Amino acid sequence: MGTIVCQTCDATIAYFEDEKVTTLYGKCDCCEHDNEGGEKE
Ligand SMILES: [Zn+2]
Repeated sequence: MGTIVCQTCDATIAYFEDEKVTTLYGKCDCCEHDNEGGEKE
């Protein structure tokens, strides 16, 4: 099973079917609108 995780706040955004365990990074709804100051890592 794959998981999509917000790269900014680590919230789980979605799951998808996959043969192995996979984690992809994206942005959740909150963080998508938060564009102040660039990336936090
Ligand atoms: Zn987020």
